[in-house]
Amino acid sequence: MRNRWAADAFVQMWRIAAWLRTELLCWTGCFWWAKFRLRREGAVVVLMLHRVLTREEYEKTGSEPDIILGVETFRNLVRYAKRTCEIAALETPAKANDAGSQTARASRTRPMIAITLDDGWHDNYTSVLPVVVAEGIPVTIFVCPGLIGCDLPFWPEQIAKAMKKKAPELRQSELTALVEQLKDFEPQRRDLLIGALSRQNGAPSCREVKEIDRTLSWEEILEMSKAGVRFGSHSCSHQILPQLPLDEVQHEIRDSKQALDMVLNSECKVFAYPNGNYSKTARRILAEAGYQAAVTTECGAWTRDRDPFAIPRVNISDSSVTGLSGRFSGAMFDYTVFWRAYRRLGSRRKMAAAWRSVTP
Ligand SMILES: [Zn+2]
Repeated sequence: MRNRWAADAFVQMWRIAAWLRTELLCWTGCFWWAKFRLRREGAVVVLMLHRVLTREEYEKTGSEPDIILGVETFRNLVRYAKRTCEIAALETPAKANDAGSQTARASRTRPMIAITLDDGWHDNYTSVLPVVVAEGIPVTIFVCPGLIGCDLPFWPEQIAKAMKKKAPELRQSELTALVEQLKDFEPQRRDLLIGALSRQNGAPSCREVKEIDRTLSWEEILEMSKAGVRFGSHSCSHQILPQLPLDEVQHEIRDSKQALDMVLNSECKVFAYPNGNYSKTARRILAEAGYQAAVTTECGAWTRDRDPFAIPRVNISDSSVTGLSGRFSGAMFDYTVFWRAYRRLGSRRKMAAAWRSVTP
């Protein structure tokens, strides 16, 4: 109990320190400078979101807090972004990644962002779609055609469900550490372990029950597409590509595109690497399959010298854009989106050189 109290006190102290740092950077003009430099570089900061949940859903989900935004926070984030930024569709700069368009990007008066959501969660239909339609903004959702309309589609939520039954006293930070460790396991070994754990604890398996943690159905995807939401591929089954043999990488990249092209009756041009892991082989297959761009989970801004098949993004969660009151904070948004992306500009050349060394 004492340990838990100390951990809560530490989290609260950390939040106060983060808030003080953000206010200091804001009032000294650092955010203004970061936005100015990003504009001059013709940069697009691509936001990476996953889930948008109500308070009640948040209590029930097995998803990690760093992929969750509250409904009210999301609405306020979109309104703030509309007032202070230019929101572009990811596909537009992806399609026009030439020198002329880059110059046009650099001459804009407001910083440019693009909004993406990974995994295709059902809450994207219930909580994201109404805001997107009301505010008239472009968003791109990356879905896995092999996991459409599925309960508990991803193993981190399956692990969370099982562990919460087995060890209710387990802290979120310990659960997060376990998930990170399991990412390095071979997929078959990980599936065996999760299966055994789920059976041991009577946790529901995929397709048994309707869960909070479920993915969009094809009907919902079609309805969202008609309302203007764009869709990209997140592979067929969300396997980590560099861990797979060549034929499976080809299947994950090509067949997912084919399924989306067929159902949506338009060409799928963008791809999000599952877990952000990419390789020289995956990049080559993506280009051959007809994709025009791919996003990673590396933090940074998409600048003119960046490979369109290794676009960095900035992760957005509730704690990264809310202040001490728990409500959306414009200063916290500017810190997370622009300041962090700007700080990565310095190491951009090093990263570009590293990427060139793995590209054909
Ligand atoms: Zn994902």
